[in-house]
Amino acid sequence: MPVRAVSLDLDDTLWPVLPALIEAEHCVDRWLRQHHPDVAHAWPIEAMRELREKIAREHTHLSHDFSEQRRLTIRHAFAACGIDDAPVDELWRIYFAARNNVELYPDTLPALERIAGHVPLVSISNGNADLEVIGLHHFFHTRLNASGVGVAKPHPHIFLAAAEALGVSPADMLHVGDDPLLDVMGAREAGMRTVWLNRTGERWSHGPAPDLEFPDMTSLADWIEASALTDG
Ligand SMILES: [Mg+2]
Repeated sequence: MPVRAVSLDLDDTLWPVLPALIEAEHCVDRWLRQHHPDVAHAWPIEAMRELREKIAREHTHLSHDFSEQRRLTIRHAFAACGIDDAPVDELWRIYFAARNNVELYPDTLPALERIAGHVPLVSISNGNADLEVIGLHHFFHTRLNASGVGVAKPHPHIFLAAAEALGVSPADMLHVGDDPLLDVMGAREAGMRTVWLNRTGERWSHGPAPDLEFPDMTSLADWIEASALTDG
C-alpha cells in the first residue's frame, strides 16, 4: 500500500538537540550573571536543571509542555531569591532563540526537499522547536507539538491528530523518528507504519520491530522515491 503522508519527529531526527539545549542553558546563565548575579549565584546551570526536573515531577499535568515547565522554573528560581516579578518573558526569549539555533544533520535538508516533493509532511514533536524560526516550515503541511495538542507522544491522540490534519487514514501514513518508545511504539499504537531513524547504529530491543529502519534521512528519501515509482 502506498504511503500517502509522512510524519516526522524533529529533535534528534532532523538535528542533534543536545548541543542546542546546552547552549540555551548557557545563554540564560550568562544573562543572569549580567543582570541578576544573585540569582545566577544561587542557581548555577546544574542547580537550575535539577529545579526544572523537580518541577516536571511535581507538575505532571505539564508533562506535555516543556515551555511552561521552563517558565515555572524561572519563577521559582527568582522567588527563592526574594524576587516575585521574575523576567520570565525575557529569559524565555533568550532560551527559545538559542534552543532553535540548531545545526541540521547534513542529510536533513536535501532529504526534506526530496520527500516533500512526493508526499505531504507533518511534524510531531514533544519539544518546543519552532520550524519557522529554524527555517524549515515551508516543507511542512502541518506542524504539531505536544503543548499545542495537549498530549505528548507516545499518546496515540497526537498521531491521530496528524492524520486528521492531512485527511488521510493512519494506516496510509509513515511516522519517522529516533525514539523507540515515543516514535515507533507510539505511532504503531495509533495504527501508522513506522520508521526507526537509527543514526547511532543501536540494536532494536524494544518489542516488535519497526516496519522500516534507516540510518539517515537520505535512505528514507531513497525508499520513498522508490516506492513512489513502484506505486506508479
Ligand atoms: Mg526525537
